Amino acid sequence: MIEQERAVYRRGYENGYKAGVRASSHAAVRWTPDGYEMRCSLCREWWPLDADHWQPRHGMRRCLSCQRAYKAAKMAGYREDAAVREARLERSRLAYRIDAPRQRARLRAWRAANREKVAEYNRRYRERHAERLRAKTRAYYAECRPVILAKKRAAYAGEVA
Ligand SMILES: [Zn+2]
Repeated sequence: MIEQERAVYRRGYENGYKAGVRASSHAAVRWTPDGYEMRCSLCREWWPLDADHWQPRHGMRRCLSCQRAYKAAKMAGYREDAAVREARLERSRLAYRIDAPRQRARLRAWRAANREKVAEYNRRYRERHAERLRAKTRAYYAECRPVILAKKRAAYAGEVA
């Protein structure tokens, strides 16, 4: 900071003190023996100035519970409003239609480049779901036994002939 600016700031402080006016922030903060507290502009309660009561990324105007209530009311409003719901659905459908081919191509490329990872994942999946997969296979065989046997007979006959 250059000397002239410093002098201007000092003059400002001096004028403030002379007039008996302390510089005050818009945020209501006070100190207690337990630590700093800040007042919520909505519920007007004093809350300890910590991450359990305030979330800086949502602004420091509302305490955390007021912020949550506000957010819940806002989302409920979105859900209940049929026009908003329809607009959001249409927007997400459009986004999917635009992006789906690109995502499919990206996944296909990744799978082609990581064949061993895919095989490892499939192996672990079969291990984790062995019982369910066996039951599924048994049910499929029980349901399609005649067709499976007919196909086998046809293949055998084709090989022999
Ligand atoms: Zn509050």
